[in-house]
Amino acid sequence: MLRLSGLNLPLDHADDAMAPAICTRLAIVPERLRGFTVFRRGNDARRKSAILLVYTVDVDIANEDEVLARFAKDHDVRPTPDMEYRFPARAPEGWSGLRPVVIGAGPCGLFAGLILAQMGFRPIILDRGKIVRERTKDTWGLWRRSQLNPESNVQFGEGGAGTFSDGKLYCRVKDPRFLGRKVLEEFVKAGAPGDILFEAHPHIGTFRLVTMVESLRETIEALGGEYRWQTRVEELELERAADGSLGVRGLHLQGGDFLEADHVVLAVGHSARSTFEMLHRRGVHIEAKPFSIGVRIEHPQAWIDEARYGKFARHPILGTAAYSLAHHCANERTVYSFCMCPGGRVVAATSEEGRVVTNGMSQYSRAEFNANSGLVVAIDPARDYPEGPLAGIDFQRHWEALAYVAGGSNYNAPGQTVGDFLAQQPSTALGSVTPSYKPGVTMTDLSACLPGFAVEAMREALPVFGRQLARYDHADVVMTGVETRTSSPVRITRGKDFQSLNTTRLFPAGEGAGYAGGILSAAIDGIKAAEAVAASITRER
Ligand code: FAD
Repeated sequence: MLRLSGLNLPLDHADDAMAPAICTRLAIVPERLRGFTVFRRGNDARRKSAILLVYTVDVDIANEDEVLARFAKDHDVRPTPDMEYRFPARAPEGWSGLRPVVIGAGPCGLFAGLILAQMGFRPIILDRGKIVRERTKDTWGLWRRSQLNPESNVQFGEGGAGTFSDGKLYCRVKDPRFLGRKVLEEFVKAGAPGDILFEAHPHIGTFRLVTMVESLRETIEALGGEYRWQTRVEELELERAADGSLGVRGLHLQGGDFLEADHVVLAVGHSARSTFEMLHRRGVHIEAKPFSIGVRIEHPQAWIDEARYGKFARHPILGTAAYSLAHHCANERTVYSFCMCPGGRVVAATSEEGRVVTNGMSQYSRAEFNANSGLVVAIDPARDYPEGPLAGIDFQRHWEALAYVAGGSNYNAPGQTVGDFLAQQPSTALGSVTPSYKPGVTMTDLSACLPGFAVEAMREALPVFGRQLARYDHADVVMTGVETRTSSPVRITRGKDFQSLNTTRLFPAGEGAGYAGGILSAAIDGIKAAEAVAASITRER
């Protein structure tokens, strides 16, 4: 098989246009083409009048070596790589060691658990939150009734932070072993739509994610894995070896139980603040890391579709349009769009009382009226929170608490129109764009709950983005805030063996440890952590 990338066809091409296009591109007679499958489909909308579909296809042709030799210098023509996932280890026959423990049932923990279960290690998965159906009720409690459950919410519980999300499934991490493919295939087995295997920018949406995590749970349990819900890990029990290094001995759980454990995957996500504090207190190596702060911005989806696709707006293949923007400002700050959710809604995403945090979600159909995305400013420990490993958490809490007050101290989000934000005046009324955040929005002055440098940078970036995407900076566009949970404020640094720098057999992984950003990269990191655990267990035998 040969993989041909960068094959461009017009948006409305006929079904039978692909075969001739392949033959023309490879300069072969049609008789040599035995078949093909689409590996990936994206689009190139740089010219709105002539949008192209961009394919990567796996092609079966007679005398493939001849074509590969002829295109030896062409990076778009290569042998199809072997993408099959192979387990690097298996639990030894009759293995009766301590079962590995995974803390966190987000994408990272679920995939660490799944791979360990598939290798025969019967993991125990602990999560402080509830199973997904119960968690959904608690999450809606905040959105509908302004009642937050600090242990069961958008951040905590089965499925992790991305369960109530747009379910975007792409990432920019290098993936030479095609672990992302393994994740997508497991998602499809768990009920995800098959198109995620070939769409360049696949997404699942909230509703399907809920049923998928339930299905993954059944698979893991059928393989001997075990879940424990509402089981927050409160302390690590560590022992010091003769050489002075720390090692894991067990876990003190919510309710007072002690769980003996010698291999622990720590997949707690970016909002596990009390856990980060505990790790720091126990002496596990942890560092402050960069993240971003800003707001959610909402436009009518129709404006974005028109700006991106012109006369092809709402074309069934293109679907609802997304965007990606970035600007480097005069004050040396970078402003960029983050986690864009076409046809979705802004959600209340706090996990702590007395704080307001925004984020975005959508359903698979992406059919809601507004598009939303984060409009955020990159920040880093050296400039913005130099006071130590946990200072990024204090920084987040400070602005989230100010947002709570600015919103009216009832979990409403503070909001402002772009027109008023640019004119440096508080908003007192909405324009033509209605914000989607629930339980509600209080129109006010967002500069009261954002650092001055971020406000300055956003005021510079908005008109720049408006020149790149028509009506992005329209006066009626609405912003709500604050967006602080863009990634983890800490890194729980690990070595090449995936173990904590100073604590053996503790495997920090996923977004909370600072090694992933998004569902797919967190799941990939979970697979790698599981492989490292398996390697350690089998080596020690
Ligand atoms: P998490 O998903 O955060 O999971 C961590 C788990 O650990 C949680 O379930 C938590 O309850 C548990 N936990 C924490 N501390 C403890 C403890 N002490 N004891 C026991 N359990 C504990 N990413 C995308 O790629 N696409 C999107 O469309 C997208 N949209 C998003 C929308 C929203 C509203 C949010 C909040 C996030 C979104 N993300 C999206 C980001 C994505 O969800 C995260 O990157 C991803 O979930 C990180 O996975 P993780 O497994 O590392 O951590």
